[in-house]
Formats: sequence, C-alpha cells, structure tokens
Amino acid sequence: MRVPMIAGNWKMNTTVDEAVRLVKAMLPEIDKVKGVEKVVCPPFVSLTSVAKVIASSSLKLGAQNLYYQEKGAYTGEISTEMLAGLCDYVIIGHSERRQVFGETDELINKKVKAAVENLLKPIFCIGETLAENEAGRTEEVLTHQFMATSNRLYFFGGMVIAYEPVWAIGTGKSATAEQANKTIGFIRHLVAHKHGEEIAESVRILYGGSVTADNIAAFMHQPEIDGALVGGASLKADSFVRIVSQTAAARGLS
Ligand code: PEP
Repeated sequence: MRVPMIAGNWKMNTTVDEAVRLVKAMLPEIDKVKGVEKVVCPPFVSLTSVAKVIASSSLKLGAQNLYYQEKGAYTGEISTEMLAGLCDYVIIGHSERRQVFGETDELINKKVKAAVENLLKPIFCIGETLAENEAGRTEEVLTHQFMATSNRLYFFGGMVIAYEPVWAIGTGKSATAEQANKTIGFIRHLVAHKHGEEIAESVRILYGGSVTADNIAAFMHQPEIDGALVGGASLKADSFVRIVSQTAAARGLS
C-alpha cells in the first residue's frame, strides 16, 4: 500500500514571519489527520523557523531546490549538506525551474543524485507544456524527462514523482481526474519497464496543477494517483487543511 502524500509548494511566497504564522495556523488540524504524509515546502530562509514549529508534529519539511555541488564558489546556491538533517524532502525539476531558470534534464539528474546521496528524498517533477500536449506529445515528453533522471538507486532513496502538466500549474485549469490518472498510469508503466513491477508498485506518483479543496477528492478516488503537489492552495491554512483531510476521507482513512 502506498501512503498518500500531500505536499505544499509555497514557491517565492511568505516572509519568515508569515511562514511561521501560516504553519502555526494549519498545524493543529493537519496533525490530527492520520494515514497521509503531509509536507510543507517554504522558501529557504524560513526552513529553520518552520522546522522549529513542526518539530514534534507529523508534518514534514521540504525545500524547493538545491545545488548538487557540496560547497564552494556558487554564489546564491544551497547545497544538500545545508539541507540534510533539516528537511526530509526537496522539490527538484519543477517546471518553473526548467522554464524560468533554464534547468536542463542533465542538471536535474545531478540534483536528484546529490539529494539521494545525502538522504534527502526528491520530489521529482515532470510534465508537458500546453503546446506539447496539444501536439499529442505528452507521452514522448514524459518518457524523455523520466529516462534522463532514472536510476534505480533514486527509488531506494525514497524518490517521489510529481506529474505536473505545465498548462495546469497556477492557471486554475486542472487536468481532469481521469486524464491525470491515465497519464500517471503511463508513468508507472515507464517505471515498471525500466526498473520492474516491484518498484513501479511502490513508487508514489503525485498529481500537481491547480489542485484545490474542491477537486482533491476526485483525484484521490483514482487508483494511480498517490497524492498531490499543491501550489496556490497550500498558501491558505484552511484550504490546505481541507485538502489533507479530504485526501484521508477519499482513501477511507478518517
Ligand atoms: C506547483 O507549484 O507545483 C503547483 C502545482 O501550483 P498550483 O497548485 O498553484 O497550480
């Protein structure tokens, strides 16, 4: 059985004070929900403060990025060594990193490798753009992105995959639950083809793209979807709490 997971990607939002207020506002209700792995990914500068707030709770912490080198002359970058021990997870390959900051499959692979080697679990994001989707190239694009970052060891390191169609991120236009289920089934098939059924059946594959408290239940009723990576709706305590509790309800855990 794959444990469902809900991860909130706060992106470049919240000052340190706001991050602490936000996590304090969601914590009491979220902590009560059992059977769902719950993760928040605040900006780097808030990680330590948020870590203190959630220290004795069931809420886990993730970073939004890292750099693969151990240390040195990489101004502005954050290494795995700086995050290890502080975070459980790290988002890698988000489409905003790929598109706005020009991250390549090669760089993303190095980051996933560095994360796993330092006991950080990657939330590895893949997804097609609107133009690729409309040209019928979704499976080709996902295959390429997956194969470029697909080492068996990553799965033993707890890697989670997030399928995030770029056209659904921050647009308010989510994929349908059936579309997402079909595409995530395809990704699981890719994992099975490359690494065998056992790994494919155990890896968690999340959906991301305009998930809200109103549509999460439909996604969580689909057999292939193991949870969600949530952007905008994770920035309001009440909507994130509802997403987490509806995930548990949809899976018969509450
Ligand atoms: C994301 O940033 O990963 C995301 C899915 O954003 P949103 O939920 O706002 O579409």
